[in-house]
Amino acid sequence: MNNNSLKVLFACSELTPWVKTGGLADVCGSLPQALAEGGDDVRVVLPGYHSVLQHIPAPLFISVVKLPLGSITLCRGDLHGIQVLLVMHESFTNRPGNPYMSDSDRPWPDNARRFALFSQAVCEIAQDRTDLHWQPDIVHCHDWQTGLVPALLSQTDTEQHTSRPATVFTIHNLAYQGNIMIDAYNRLGLPSELLVQDGLEFWNQASFIKGGIAFADKITTVSATYADEITTKDFGCGMEGLLQYRRDRLSGILNGIDTDIWNPETDLHINTNYTFGTIDKKANNKKDLQAQLKLREDPNALLLGVISRLAVQKGIDLIIDAIKQLKNENIQLAVLGAGDSELQQQLQKLAKANPENVSVEIGFNESLSHKIEAGADVFLMPSRYEPCGLNQMYSHRYGTLPLVTSVGGLADTVIDINDDPASANGFVIKSANPVLLQQGILRVIELFKDKTRWRNLQNNAMQINYSWAASAAQYKNLYRQALQEPPKQ
Ligand code: ADP
Repeated sequence: MNNNSLKVLFACSELTPWVKTGGLADVCGSLPQALAEGGDDVRVVLPGYHSVLQHIPAPLFISVVKLPLGSITLCRGDLHGIQVLLVMHESFTNRPGNPYMSDSDRPWPDNARRFALFSQAVCEIAQDRTDLHWQPDIVHCHDWQTGLVPALLSQTDTEQHTSRPATVFTIHNLAYQGNIMIDAYNRLGLPSELLVQDGLEFWNQASFIKGGIAFADKITTVSATYADEITTKDFGCGMEGLLQYRRDRLSGILNGIDTDIWNPETDLHINTNYTFGTIDKKANNKKDLQAQLKLREDPNALLLGVISRLAVQKGIDLIIDAIKQLKNENIQLAVLGAGDSELQQQLQKLAKANPENVSVEIGFNESLSHKIEAGADVFLMPSRYEPCGLNQMYSHRYGTLPLVTSVGGLADTVIDINDDPASANGFVIKSANPVLLQQGILRVIELFKDKTRWRNLQNNAMQINYSWAASAAQYKNLYRQALQEPPKQ
């Protein structure tokens, strides 16, 4: 700890490795550690879900906290030396499985109440009104689940934030907004003063994410391009007007990745470890993956990998279409994913019709995801929008060249050989369009035959430094600016 150090409270609804549905969990699992390594005092506050308690069966009791929406028990667990404060309430602790959805893939009907309660707990900690006796300088909130926090804290505003910490709100995916009917909002007994046009009100609903966007001292997204995109009608999900209005508070900071977990030199999940110096050994991982997935063992087939939520956002429909159209080419597809049941069925049908060339594994499988990263030649991410994206960065580390659309974080990390041959590290198509994807794959098939150029791309990709330290330094800078911001008028 030094004079320059800040006290930062991370408020989030997911945390790798305890509870994860997407990239948000990875950010909240890694960034606090990177900030702590830089000398900051960082704590995380997380709902005490049933699944989290499997990892920490005996969390340390701190106190019972009475909140407008009910009483919670505040406990503590530790993760890699970071204190994780757990908000225990039966709506979290007694609900196994996915944090937001029931087994039948429907959102829990009381999600608004659960995350409003969680947000109230965060506000109590933020104002040092629990037995923790610790007040953060900054509360860093993530996505709609914590959007109410900046809104509720704004009600205590003074000119220099003296009674509240400064707030930072990060949008990991603007499409998930936590919108509820006005009646439901009123039933929660949340402040009616917040339900105004430049507050939570959103097309005759109450929007939790709008709380973060309208009231936070600083707003961030997880890439610079996505920060620009969400101020436009095409990507703004109805929030573009407000985001344009708050443009001076909005910026993008690219996520880092966990370079210990995603390291082909040391990865224990893969058949053969390698570096760029020993890149020929990557072929063993391809052979192993083809064998495991019962694909034809052909070193010359271009093996395309996909690890993804099965969602329209991710362009999975375009991939299915492209594979059908290009059935006479020597390509293979290995998909790992879960999500939309319609896409799942279409993928399974494709695999059944082409068992030697298409493999589809449904479910969440950490170990197989590493094997695909190491074994595939190319990683497909034809996303319609992509706030940051992690898999294109993992792919770079493994010398697996990404083929992506030019959106969000993909545009900020992947350089096409036609745009800049010297520093190229993958392939970019302009937008999520079926013909462009097919043309893109055909272009990659040709290039795959030119081993020298392919190696150059792999070399560029594998040299990129994606460690969290660089992103953490940018957040630290932003926190300092947030402390200087006058509260919203
Ligand atoms: P998003 O957050 O939109 O789902 P990201 O690319 O930002 O997409 O992050 C997704 C994360 O989840 C990555 O770490 C990815 O490897 C992982 N992932 C997604 N689906 C699976 C799966 N079925 N099995 C294992 N890991 C998965």
